[in-house]
Amino acid sequence: MNIPDDAAARRAVKPVICYPVETLPQPDLAAYAGFRAHAIKTGEVLAHPREAATFRVPAGGFFRITSVEGPQVGDLNLWHADDLSERFYSGKTRALHGTHVTTGQRLWSSFPTLRPMATITTDTLGWYGKDDFGGSVHDVIGTRCDPYTHNLLSGGQYHHCCHSNLTRALADATGLPLHDAEAHVHDVLNVFMCTGFTRDTGQYFMKASPVRPGDYLEFFAEIPLLGALSACPGGDCSTVHSSDQAACYPLLVEVFETPADMLGDWQGPALNGYDRSHGR
Ligand SMILES: [Zn+2]
Repeated sequence: MNIPDDAAARRAVKPVICYPVETLPQPDLAAYAGFRAHAIKTGEVLAHPREAATFRVPAGGFFRITSVEGPQVGDLNLWHADDLSERFYSGKTRALHGTHVTTGQRLWSSFPTLRPMATITTDTLGWYGKDDFGGSVHDVIGTRCDPYTHNLLSGGQYHHCCHSNLTRALADATGLPLHDAEAHVHDVLNVFMCTGFTRDTGQYFMKASPVRPGDYLEFFAEIPLLGALSACPGGDCSTVHSSDQAACYPLLVEVFETPADMLGDWQGPALNGYDRSHGR
């Protein structure tokens, strides 16, 4: 290997933040707290172990994902309630906010809308920060466990990976044929999952989630949402996934609606301002 004479100098160049977020429109968390104080619970659904559940949240409402019974990780997908083509964009959310998200940060939608779909308003694991391994919770690094990668690495047919759970749940919620629904399933927010990259090899790692029953993550719905949450077969993700070996627990999703008169003149985020002419 030829190492250039100025290798040390090249490595010493200081990094630059790719996307300075100072100009991002900031959520008005005080206003959201005011809405939340008047919001009324309108429904709940349980994502059973190794299964997924769907839910709908009106714009201006809230949804809360709570750990019940035991430590459990959830894989979350979000779509515009009336347009499945507008969906959560995990990669751009990561580029804007970093590898893990918490209170005040937002889940962004795909092109061409690229706008906030939901804002995290409460995170009872916000105290965790970053551990000595570089791990943190609620990542937008991982994609979702899926039967294709499992087949590639281990062979066999496993049908309760989050990808399949989300596919079945979306098909049931929309009436779409299974394979049409599958095309709408996308990279997730890993709710409660504790992950990072190893310092030496840069590999994606997971470790036992610090979540305990009663912990929750709550979101404000910036637009009308259809959500799907899978209770991952990895359980707390301390050992294995893509099998029925790990201890798994349900996750509770609760939906809260803000009365229209309380929302006042609040308006959801506009579509992205790019004109889409692409230089033509
Ligand atoms: Zn999973």
